[in-house]
Amino acid sequence: MARKFFVGGNWKCNGTSDEVKKIITTLNEAQVPGEDVVVLSPPFVFLAVVKGLLRPDFHVAAQNCWVRKGGAFTGEVSAEMLVNLGIPWVILGHSERRQLLNESNEFVADKVAYALSQGLKVIACIGETLEQREAGITLNVVAEQTKAIAAKISNWDNVVLAYEPVWAIGTGKVATPAQAQEVHADLRKWIHEHVSADVAASVRIIYGGSVNGGNSKELAGQPDLDGFLVGGASLKPEFIDIINSAT
Ligand code: PGA
Repeated sequence: MARKFFVGGNWKCNGTSDEVKKIITTLNEAQVPGEDVVVLSPPFVFLAVVKGLLRPDFHVAAQNCWVRKGGAFTGEVSAEMLVNLGIPWVILGHSERRQLLNESNEFVADKVAYALSQGLKVIACIGETLEQREAGITLNVVAEQTKAIAAKISNWDNVVLAYEPVWAIGTGKVATPAQAQEVHADLRKWIHEHVSADVAASVRIIYGGSVNGGNSKELAGQPDLDGFLVGGASLKPEFIDIINSAT
């Protein structure tokens, strides 16, 4: 089964309204390989404006949402609110949230399950630290993160897994195509053994961590790499080269 190429742009906590409009103008004019390839994730406050200005074949994602139904949770945004606003996607379990806000595997898995139950599509992030890689436990780490999610969901149709080695995020130190392919293939094998052959064949595993216009083509050529989650470079015109790297 062919897995459709996917490119997410994670703007993180960046941008002013003028900058947002400028980026959207550039992207709206870009030639891209097909529809439904690109998902942009601006900060919450810009979601509505981005959705309003963005071409219809590009989609939007929130960068987080609350773990259960909304209510007395100051500062949080619920999955229901995103659905109400017509936001189809959400990024969950980004390593910055896991590390800086102590989001555990279980908490992330609960968020994934709740977001899916409300009809959102989820980009679920996993990945090892440098220390864990050097200790030779990369697969154990990503398998544990995936296992927590697998324990709480039964339908993977609306899930994209983003493998983002923490040591590669925002550091300019990209995983080599061979390093990325190895983890993606091992993870797919783990999914085959612990979830199902169907999910292993169909789930998209995208790579994130210092992807740019210069390295995306070679990474995109790896058989188990189905796209990217791009941070810094998604704010720049080279994002268009990354979108086109699968062609
Ligand atoms: P980066 O971030 O491309 O700036 O390394 C990737 C991410 O955190 O999703």
